[in-house]
Amino acid sequence: MTPWTNWAGTASTHPRRIHRPSNIDELRAVVTAVADRGGRIRPVGSGHSFTAIAATDPGCDAVDLGALSGLVSADVETGLVTVRAGTTLRRLNALLDMLGLAMTNLGDIDAQTVAGSISTGTHGTGAAFGGLATQVAALELVTADGSLVRCSPDERPDLFAAARVGLGALGVITSVTLRCEPAFVLQAHEGPLPLDEVLASFDELADREDHVEFYWFPYGRTALVKRNTRCAPGTPARPLSAVRRFVDYTLMENVAFGALCRLGRAVPRLVPTLGAFAASASSTRRYSDAAHRVFATRRTVRFVESEYAVPRESLLDVLDRLRALVPTLRHPVAFPAEIRVAAADDIWLSTAYGRDSAYVAVHQYVGMPYEEYFEAFAEIADSVGGRPHWGKLHPLGADRLRELYPRFDDFRRVRAELDPQGVFGNAYLDRVLGPVG
Ligand SMILES: Cc1cc2nc3c(=O)[nH]c(=O)nc-3n(C[C@H](O)[C@H](O)[C@H](O)COP(=O)(O)OP(=O)(O)OC[C@H]3O[C@@H](n4cnc5c(N)ncnc54)[C@H](O)[C@@H]3O)c2cc1C
Repeated sequence: MTPWTNWAGTASTHPRRIHRPSNIDELRAVVTAVADRGGRIRPVGSGHSFTAIAATDPGCDAVDLGALSGLVSADVETGLVTVRAGTTLRRLNALLDMLGLAMTNLGDIDAQTVAGSISTGTHGTGAAFGGLATQVAALELVTADGSLVRCSPDERPDLFAAARVGLGALGVITSVTLRCEPAFVLQAHEGPLPLDEVLASFDELADREDHVEFYWFPYGRTALVKRNTRCAPGTPARPLSAVRRFVDYTLMENVAFGALCRLGRAVPRLVPTLGAFAASASSTRRYSDAAHRVFATRRTVRFVESEYAVPRESLLDVLDRLRALVPTLRHPVAFPAEIRVAAADDIWLSTAYGRDSAYVAVHQYVGMPYEEYFEAFAEIADSVGGRPHWGKLHPLGADRLRELYPRFDDFRRVRAELDPQGVFGNAYLDRVLGPVG
């Protein structure tokens, strides 16, 4: 038995064995052997989901595709790039840099694997842009009978609609073809603004800016707003100096912020003051850089998180109720909430399926009580039809999720056809998808 724990420490388990196949034939043999003996096997990525979605049931097998990483093929003309599923986003960005290409949109960090990030619906921000899975043009996966299956809009379209955000329930993804675009520079403009002003104009801001998000320390009246604008081809980058980057991102956002969080955890009554101080200590900065260096930053301060996609028109109502909730909690909240937006898409289990969405994420510093906060937040989000991020903490089960996702039973049908024994199941999937069949 090998212990396994996710990044946040919210899920841990003891797989019977963690397989690390070095080629697809080895992977097929592993899956077939587990299926033949009636076992279960769970694909794992970088372990950056907060839920137990990647956790193997105790005594079952896990498969880690870390050795199946890197470029398979690239067509610079069309922008179609195929990578092995275990490639991390960091490595993907470096590979794309060398090809003069880029992902259209990315989330906050780049530690996840390509397969792991699309499987839970990982997203960034931008009202006209979808999550990472919307950039997938085709993928291949090893299914429960050991077959290698390909899907795209033209080949097995139902499987394609299901597998792009597949929760690791349909098979082990071996490669992903991404629709990339010529490398571009993002102009970043980050800084504090009065929260009320941001809320009053957020809809207009989200429609005007390419990529906009804001953080809000729950006791304060300041929002830290990040606006990123796509620059015309050929625009030179004007990045932050190495010293400024180190001071702003490493010292302020990680080292100093981590120290404030540790102090707040030790002396909880200081948390509201510390949060207000953290917001006020943020300065305005403008710079431009290769898109992936603006989208993604390093996060060394550990936290726990819940996030819901709500209909965009419900955002202000949700935030109003969240603001009213926080002062009533028994334990203070040390981490800011984060607000982002995304365009509607057509992926069956995407949190933005069929509707333009706003994402509201709540966080708590690791080791501080979060249950009451997250439960109350889940109730608020649920009351407006919010859909929880599959990789972030939430209490929902299959009955409620079926009401939230119009194609939920289509997903279950594809799953039952491909994996009638539930070889790729685990306790989390039992809860959110219900029994196979
Ligand atoms: C610090 C931090 C920042 C984050 N920022 C964002 C953000 O900005 N936006 C956002 O949306 N999310 C964010 N997340 C959540 C994160 O992107 C997702 O939870 C993502 O799924 C994690 O990818 P992973 O490679 O770690 O996969 P894991 O967490 O290891 O696995 C996730 C799922 O992928 C499946 N899987 C993994 N590999 C395969 C495979 N080869 N075939 C089939 N299924 C597979 C697993 O079975 C599981 O179901 C963040 C998380 C952390 C810890």
